[in-house]
Amino acid sequence: MKAAKRTVGDTSAPDYLDRLRFPVDPWRLVETEFSKEDLGVTETLFAVGNGYLGLRGNVEDGHDAHAHGTFINGFHETWKILHAEEAYGFARTGQTIVNVPDPKIIRLYVNDEPLLLSIADLVSYSRVLDMREGVLSRDLLWRTPSGNRVRVRSKRMVSFAQRHLAVMCFEVTLLDQEAPIAISSQLLNRQAGLDEYRANPSPDVIADPRKAEKLEKRVLEPRLHHGQDDRIVLGYQCAASGMTLAAAMEHSVDFEDDYDTVTEVEEDYAKQVFRARAKPGQTFSLTKVVSYHTSRVVPPRELADRCNRTLDRVRSEGLSTQFEDQRRWLEEYWAKSDVEIGGNDAIQQAVRWNLFQLAQAAARGDGHGIAAKGVTGSGYGGHYFWDSEIYALPFFTYTSPVIARNALRYRYRMLGQAEKRAAELAQNGALFPWRTINGEEASAYYAAGTAQYHIDADIAYAIDKYVRATGDDDFLAREGIDILVQTARMWADLGFWRQIPGNGESFRIHGVTGPDEYTTVVNDNLYTNVMARFNLRCAAQNVRKLQDRWPDQYARLTSRLGVTDQEIAEWERAADGMAILWDEQLGIHPQDALFNEREVWDLANTPAEKRPLLLHFHPLVIYRFQVLKQADVVLALFLQGDYFTYEQKKADFDYYDPITTGDSTLSGVVQSIIAAEVGYHELALRYFWDSLYVDLGDLHANAADGVHVASTGGVWSALAYGFGGFRDQGDVLSFDPRLPDSWDSLTFRLSQRGTRVKVTVRQEEVTFTIEEGPGLSVEVRGERFSLTQLQPLTVPLENQGPRLSGAPDATAYHGTVRADGTVIRPSLPTTVNEETTMTHEIQLDEVVHHYAEDED
Ligand code: BGC
Repeated sequence: MKAAKRTVGDTSAPDYLDRLRFPVDPWRLVETEFSKEDLGVTETLFAVGNGYLGLRGNVEDGHDAHAHGTFINGFHETWKILHAEEAYGFARTGQTIVNVPDPKIIRLYVNDEPLLLSIADLVSYSRVLDMREGVLSRDLLWRTPSGNRVRVRSKRMVSFAQRHLAVMCFEVTLLDQEAPIAISSQLLNRQAGLDEYRANPSPDVIADPRKAEKLEKRVLEPRLHHGQDDRIVLGYQCAASGMTLAAAMEHSVDFEDDYDTVTEVEEDYAKQVFRARAKPGQTFSLTKVVSYHTSRVVPPRELADRCNRTLDRVRSEGLSTQFEDQRRWLEEYWAKSDVEIGGNDAIQQAVRWNLFQLAQAAARGDGHGIAAKGVTGSGYGGHYFWDSEIYALPFFTYTSPVIARNALRYRYRMLGQAEKRAAELAQNGALFPWRTINGEEASAYYAAGTAQYHIDADIAYAIDKYVRATGDDDFLAREGIDILVQTARMWADLGFWRQIPGNGESFRIHGVTGPDEYTTVVNDNLYTNVMARFNLRCAAQNVRKLQDRWPDQYARLTSRLGVTDQEIAEWERAADGMAILWDEQLGIHPQDALFNEREVWDLANTPAEKRPLLLHFHPLVIYRFQVLKQADVVLALFLQGDYFTYEQKKADFDYYDPITTGDSTLSGVVQSIIAAEVGYHELALRYFWDSLYVDLGDLHANAADGVHVASTGGVWSALAYGFGGFRDQGDVLSFDPRLPDSWDSLTFRLSQRGTRVKVTVRQEEVTFTIEEGPGLSVEVRGERFSLTQLQPLTVPLENQGPRLSGAPDATAYHGTVRADGTVIRPSLPTTVNEETTMTHEIQLDEVVHHYAEDED
């Protein structure tokens, strides 16, 4: 991670962006200068997508790229995971998102000179991602080697209204001299990285688990290719997963003089070249309409028909309708979800960019999950994690619930596989995969994968929030309830009762990994137990709700799953008896049963070049210490906040914050929320900045792999829950704001059961305005108000909650005596500051050489 040069007390907004190159604009991300140096990052920042189809922000000429990328949510190849040492139940099927044929390439030649951005003489250049229009556009003036100035304007859009559609426009105007021009528009299957310019990029030196596995063999087997008039279709099938795809493109030209067209269609390559002689002032305008359809079973030929239908529709509706629909879709999106930061356009721009990414990652996933990188990159292999339920879905649940519903239905569709997986792990009920695309566990490293049983509770949590916010009892009764029941069963079976002499019995959960992946396979992880307790209670409540309100549905449920009253009572007993560990001596909740026995990692003295720890230390080295990759106890304090007192929250935060590395971008947003709640307002703001600019400022040095979608969702959470003080833990929405001192106001919107309320927090007050629907009740610091459409309601605020300056004191616990009499003294593995001394400095090649000689 890039070193943050800021101190905690500094509450001025940081500028992680070069403002000459990326000027402030509240609705657009603008780039005024092309650079080859950070192509990976800008390809991610300027990617366009709709949750189904995603196009990285690659330059049109297709020459220089960090990673060419065109991705379709859920379209993946499978491969056998080869474990060097096998064991029963290890994940078997690797799944990797496929880089599908690239439609972005539009090459321009003037007088046979190619426009190659990295070497071109650019008189002017600007690229704009407009978040209201949903269009990426570029406008440049190129001076060709022969001195002709050429204006090139292009646009790229992936439609939110029609999920299978992308549109590109390319306009060329010669300003000085008449010249021959040629535009070569392509659809290219790069064979997992190979293209005509270069072979696969060099392999990564450091093993980075955050990147996608490289698929070595041919993935897309050609099934059809044909071109007729200006329309070309390519069809493929994945060699191992069998998934099918068709991609079609159609061109139209607007030019007042003659031009000719040459078409070439091969299995992996299709292009149309348009040639003309252009006079100065004449504009040659090319439109490229592209469609993708994919399936698990449908043959490519039929998918080709579907592509044709999409293209026919665009032809009959016209192009301007597509751009208009896009604008209208986004108008509605922003009306439901915009967050406004009073008087700060730079923050505003970054906030909107993050919220826009959420739409791009999920809006038209329609029945797919939300991948960790959305459709902007291949990082994490295109997999779905708990990121969806805990980080992205809160935003959708309260702003665009239909998107949350679709993502949850996707989990329902994998319930059968989750049941099978639970059986494989000798458990009842269902165990959802830690990471997956097709529903099977894809995490080869069980300690930081399958052992994260909490995924079950995370999904249950998202279902509960969604159903409460929307009143979608139909989803609950037909699908959601099955997940709640089967996950509760898993917990009831995984946990066990243990008698503690003189202290009654408690329900324990052993051998699991919590969210913090720097400590694995532990007993009674606090987060897991707290969330399992929630899961058990939530299942019990909802089954009873069905029983009381919809006996028919209840009867169906019992015939499907055989739930009994006795079983429900057992869940409740397990929840009530759940072990929630507390360390009397330190006055904190230990992260797990043995956590406090470990040595404390001296984070303050860890050199920046050794971060993130996961890239510099073997997992076993890290596991030995108290050091966190990401919020764990602190996340429990947020999600189940009602079960903890203010004092407990503060003590836990004080203890864990100094040993939390934030090596995962899922951490900062949560630390920000609890810092705000307990009163560390400057620290809350600093965590917020560092999350807001994770990708825009490339703060974790891997934005090139794709957008950190969980963090973008977390940015919304940090605003709404953190600074807005919003919670949904009782029967009404409640608010206890924590507006940063330096902010004039914060406005966000929440929808609940058909009512949309606009919440504006200012230093002295909070105002609620009903924007849509009949109204609702809210609670502000314990006082209840009912809101109607008639007029906004303003509630005065005496303050913004407790105010603590600085950050928890990292040394506060140093020297403290633990319960077992030992003293806490932070330390580091010896190799951190010195080179390891190898007693026997034998190089492998020397050994080989030695034996070779012996053989002679
Ligand atoms: C985090 C996980 C997360 C995954 C995907 C990892 O670095 O530790 O919590 O689910 O990234 O974003």
